Amino acid sequence: MSKLTEHRSCTAQCNKPVPVELHAAGLCVSHFTFNVEKACADMHRQIAMCGVSAERQTEITLYLVECSAMLAHVTSTLSLSDQLKRRVLSTFLCLMNLRETLERSSSVGASPIRPPSRIAAAATA
Ligand SMILES: [Zn+2]
Repeated sequence: MSKLTEHRSCTAQCNKPVPVELHAAGLCVSHFTFNVEKACADMHRQIAMCGVSAERQTEITLYLVECSAMLAHVTSTLSLSDQLKRRVLSTFLCLMNLRETLERSSSVGASPIRPPSRIAAAATA
């Protein structure tokens, strides 16, 4: 845990410090998890209501990968309170559920998660 970088306060104005792991997001752990969960809920709704284009699927997949990596980094380098641990776990769950929803919505073929060539091959076999 190096504290060599400058002190940053959460952009959600809660005055909590932003850990180095979350500098890209500019948020404290608590606000980061809230934001991710809210974004997941929004995307979930979007997929359920109107489906998603292949381009949007790629965007969501990238978002999932990025957030999961940041959260994993936080959990492996910071000591978190029990309350924050619970928050982080529930955020991981949201990310995993969104991924499942995304996969289900793209079962027809163009999923960015699985190589499309294999799916196409299986469909024509
Ligand atoms: Zn905050």
